[in-house]
Amino acid sequence: MKCAACHEALAHKHGEIELRIHGKLFLVENVSYYECPACGERTLSPDVSQCLFEKITKKEYKEKPVMVPVVDGCSTTAVGSL
Ligand SMILES: [Zn+2]
Repeated sequence: MKCAACHEALAHKHGEIELRIHGKLFLVENVSYYECPACGERTLSPDVSQCLFEKITKKEYKEKPVMVPVVDGCSTTAVGSL
């Protein structure tokens, strides 16, 4: 598999990833995924993402309260400075 963004060969990893499905954030543990060593893009193989999607559809997960750090965004009045 190659990175969709920069075509670098993806490294096979195992661990936990964050997944946003239907606007809800899921933490997936013990999952195989691919990570691009160049840009950090993470990709799931089609069978893994299908499996996760089915589990989430069947609500085969446990809910854990997670403290998420929320940062109030900064804004600038400078426009077009790039
Ligand atoms: Zn990449």
